[in-house]
Amino acid sequence: MIRPLITGNWKMFKTPRESLDFVGRLKEALSDIRELDVVIAPPFTSLYPVGVALKGSGIHLAAQNLYDKTEGAYTGEISARMLIDVGCAYVIVGHSERRTLFGEKDKMINGKLKMAIQSGLKPIFCIGETLAEREAGKTFTIIEQQIKEGLNQLSADDIGEILVAYEPVWAIGTGKTAAPEQAQEAHAFIRGVIAGDYQEELADNLPILYGGSVSTDNIAKLMAQRDINGALVGGASLDVETFVRIVNYKKIS
Ligand code: PEP
Repeated sequence: MIRPLITGNWKMFKTPRESLDFVGRLKEALSDIRELDVVIAPPFTSLYPVGVALKGSGIHLAAQNLYDKTEGAYTGEISARMLIDVGCAYVIVGHSERRTLFGEKDKMINGKLKMAIQSGLKPIFCIGETLAEREAGKTFTIIEQQIKEGLNQLSADDIGEILVAYEPVWAIGTGKTAAPEQAQEAHAFIRGVIAGDYQEELADNLPILYGGSVSTDNIAKLMAQRDINGALVGGASLDVETFVRIVNYKKIS
């Protein structure tokens, strides 16, 4: 049984002060959460103070990106070691906004995944098709290609360290969610690709999160799907009360 995990991706929102205010209220609201993991991914400037504030809370810290080199003359970039030092346990890799706005290609994402794993960070590896690709009937071809290229030369042990987030690009920040059955179909496909490339057992234990306009209205139905093990929540993770309701999706009737 895979332990459910809900991650909030704050993107480029919240100053350190705003982040601390959020985290103070989040810790209070989730002080008795035991049955699932909660992860938040603030911007880089908030990671250190939030990491300090989260100590001992059971809520985990993620970064939204990392660079695939250990250290060096890479102005503006952040290394895995720096992220671990401020308390990150997870890192989002290959988010569609990185792919489309910042030109990240599968090869670079593969390098970032390797760097994260070898450094001891758990990568949340994002994949998903655009609307044009879905309408052209290419959803599964695209997802498979992103998996194969992203995970190129990763060992079975490496796969045991990653989480996948299926995020159809057309559903991110648009208010359009994949229907639970549509998401389930993609998640089952992803598990099948991993089973084919590695082992069935590894695929069965791979946490696959859904992302794309997750809200208090759709989270319970999404989480009821067999192959959906959690969610990557963008916009709806910015308001603490809404995020807490999403984390407590079992209580939503
Ligand atoms: C995301 O940032 O990964 C995301 C899914 O955003 P939103 O929930 O706003 O669609």
